[in-house]
Amino acid sequence: MRVLSVEALGADFAAAVREEATGWDRRGALPAEMARALGANGLLGADLPRAHGGLDAGAAALGELCAHLGGVCSALRGLVTVQGMVSAALLRWGTPAQRDRWLPALARGTRIAGFAVTEEGAGTDLAVATTTISRAGTGFELTGRKRWVTFGQVADVFLVSGLVDGEHTTVLVEADRPGVWREPVTGQLGMRAAQLAHLRFDAVSVPAENLVAPPGFGLSHVVATALDHGRFTVGWGCVGMAEACLREATGHVVNRRQGGVSLAEHQVVRGLLGRAAVDTAAARELCRRAARLRAAGDPEAVVGTVAAKYAAARAAAEVAGSAVQVLGAAGCAPESRPGRFFRDAKVMEIIEGSAQVCELTVAEDLLRRHGYSTAGAR
Ligand SMILES: Cc1cc2nc3c(=O)[nH]c(=O)nc-3n(C[C@H](O)[C@H](O)[C@H](O)COP(=O)(O)OP(=O)(O)OC[C@H]3O[C@@H](n4cnc5c(N)ncnc54)[C@H](O)[C@@H]3O)c2cc1C
Repeated sequence: MRVLSVEALGADFAAAVREEATGWDRRGALPAEMARALGANGLLGADLPRAHGGLDAGAAALGELCAHLGGVCSALRGLVTVQGMVSAALLRWGTPAQRDRWLPALARGTRIAGFAVTEEGAGTDLAVATTTISRAGTGFELTGRKRWVTFGQVADVFLVSGLVDGEHTTVLVEADRPGVWREPVTGQLGMRAAQLAHLRFDAVSVPAENLVAPPGFGLSHVVATALDHGRFTVGWGCVGMAEACLREATGHVVNRRQGGVSLAEHQVVRGLLGRAAVDTAAARELCRRAARLRAAGDPEAVVGTVAAKYAAARAAAEVAGSAVQVLGAAGCAPESRPGRFFRDAKVMEIIEGSAQVCELTVAEDLLRRHGYSTAGAR
């Protein structure tokens, strides 16, 4: 029997669903069986240890998987991202009981996770969140609103951030608890099949065993671990988008003739292709570097991942824009993949740390290496 690598499994899966993704985007939902289908192939827990239901495949394999899926559908890649973010947080900071209960189910796709941290007034700056997790009897009571939760319409469990006695903390909240309300978000710019929802928690009772890490560890440890994992997979998804757009743009200019000449004859068109090819290759190399740093447990991995996600999101946005440009009206057509990626890629420059915040993080690291401390400067 031939045992396929995670990368090969991802390539096969992406190829099998490639022609369906436009319809998912139009309908605003992935097929209900998608999580189980990914999970049955091991693709929702590629980097999880085998003891927790994963494939233990490592960062590079996870990255290549996300590039394959990202090259087909950002929402599909988003499912791998969110399951991975919550799984990574639980693997590192969860209790043995939380890991036993949730990690195999998330890896198999029999349960879907949501990551609920953003609020109306707390986006980039999560420290100003106002959701409260008050002590109530032996457990807690959760009250607050979260926005823009990917797969929030269908998630079975949410990892939610809030304040316990004024300290940032995270809890797991099963979606069927009384007081959990979902408001579907539809028609947003990109990732339209990612079934987003805004959430309201009205005095939701949460048992003490649902607390993830002690109070005070929420943002700095649990949320940070999830976002770091998310950035890595988003970056690789953007590599897939950029590569797909470059392929379509190149194929189009080779075949399309206007005014008696091939589009490929125009130097301005070649210039667009040349820049797109370099941006795409550079993004891939930075993502590969991030994978190597992560695999080595290098402390530089966090900033290396920020840099990779930043470069890849920019590349995806630039290359998708160039692809739409050279495709002309075909790039604007309802079924245009570069057109869909053009919308999706802009989102990638905003989520998991906006482009501006990534620049600041990389610059701060650079300055620190040169002995400059920002402590007290702000
Ligand atoms: C499709 C989609 C899916 C999402 N999924 C999730 C999810 O699953 N879970 C979740 O919790 N959230 C999710 N979000 C929310 C997302 O994480 C936030 O939108 C993001 O963190 C930015 O926050 P904001 O929108 O409030 O923008 P703001 O924080 O208001 O920032 C707006 C812009 O201001 C600039 N800016 C802000 N602060 C700074 C700064 N310190 N330095 C420099 N520039 C700055 C940046 O240009 C930034 O893009 C999702 C959003 C979208 C669109």
